Parts: sequence; structure tokens; C-alpha cells
Amino acid sequence: MTTARALPGEHIHIAVNEQTAPFWEAAKEERLVAPRCGDCARFRMPPTPFCPHCQSKAIDWVELSGKGEVFSYTVCLKPPFPGEVFPFVPVVVSLPDADGVRLISNVVGGDIADVHVGMKVKVAWNPITDGWKVPIFEPDHGD
Ligand SMILES: [Zn+2]
Repeated sequence: MTTARALPGEHIHIAVNEQTAPFWEAAKEERLVAPRCGDCARFRMPPTPFCPHCQSKAIDWVELSGKGEVFSYTVCLKPPFPGEVFPFVPVVVSLPDADGVRLISNVVGGDIADVHVGMKVKVAWNPITDGWKVPIFEPDHGD
């Protein structure tokens, strides 16, 4: 069994702006949120100043369950920087309770050979630089 790991947080830096700050502030509290239009109720991720469907500026940040499903993935056998060599699994995760929203993330834990499209996953949190956290996902065995 080969276990996928998260990229070490000290290598991950994010940029926060007015539109994305609510996502990152919630992540810091280990809450997964997504922006939903305050008028037409469609999700829009990444967050934008105007709804692409109705041009509304109204936005509601909705807390999600953290459950997801692997939409696409790849297996990388070594990280993109010098140092310790270990496998990691970049993924695109669909979030069923936020219609149309997908996050680019990593799957960690479990055997890399078990990762597949449609795999059920649940959010976990990877501490990174400057006190932020990024959502990552682990296999959801329903427990
Ligand atoms: Zn809208």
C-alpha cells in the first residue's frame, strides 16, 4: 500500500483578496464554505464581484457539509520541490451540496491505487504558511 500525503504546508502560499477572504477565513476555522448568489441562488466559485447568471452583487457564504466526490485526479510520485520524496494526489472534487462547485485539492490517506473518479471523500485541513489552512480531502468511508 502506498499512501498519498498532503504537500508540506510551508511550501504553500496563498493570496487573499476581498472576494476570496470569506473562503479563507472560514477555512482557517476548518469550515468549508462556498459563495451563492443572494438573488438567483446559484453558486459561483471562484467568487466573483458579480453573478455571471444575473449580474447581482449579492452574495451569501454557505457552509457546506465537507463531503465531496472525486471528479478527476492524477497521481504524482514525487513533490514539485526538492526534499523528501512521497506520492501525492491532486484532484478536482465536486461538492454535491453546492451545485456546480468544484475545488482543486489533494486526496490524502488511503492507498493511492484506490483513488478513482466518483470516489466519496470528506474535507480535512492542511495548515499552510501565515496561519492559513487549505481544504484537502480524505476517503469517506461513511463513518
Ligand atoms: Zn445570480
